[in-house]
Order: sequence, then C-alpha cells, then structure tokens
Amino acid sequence: MTTPPDPPVSKPETFGHEPFEYDGVPICTRCYTTSVRCSLDAFEVPRRSTVRLPVPWPCTSAVVLGLVPRPAV
Ligand SMILES: [Zn+2]
Repeated sequence: MTTPPDPPVSKPETFGHEPFEYDGVPICTRCYTTSVRCSLDAFEVPRRSTVRLPVPWPCTSAVVLGLVPRPAV
C-alpha cells in the first residue's frame, strides 16, 4: 500500500517579484526604475546611458499580487 504524495504547497505566484537584500535594504528582484543619464565620454561625444535604480520592497506589484499585506491606510 502506497501513500499518495503530498499535494504541492500552493505558493502565490510571484511573477519574479521577490524581496532581495541589497546594501541592507530590501528591494524587488524584478522591479527596476530606469533612468537615462546623459554625459560626455572621453572624446566629448554625448552618451546616453541607462541606469537601473532598484525599487524598494515591497514594490507596487507585490502589493497588488497579494504577496505582502497591503499597507494600512
Ligand atoms: Zn516588483
């Protein structure tokens, strides 16, 4: 006689939104704010570089997905 395997524990779908500790601050591994910086390179040619800024955890998506309790209003 065999016992059926335990059903998998249902976890909420995170869609990649999970907390990640960065410099002691929890940020979302999925969310970044991109901002464009303009600067001149060594030949004084204008360069546009995209900087990815971390989004603090919990991000808006995590709240919407119900991964974290909604902040009290
Ligand atoms: Zn996120």
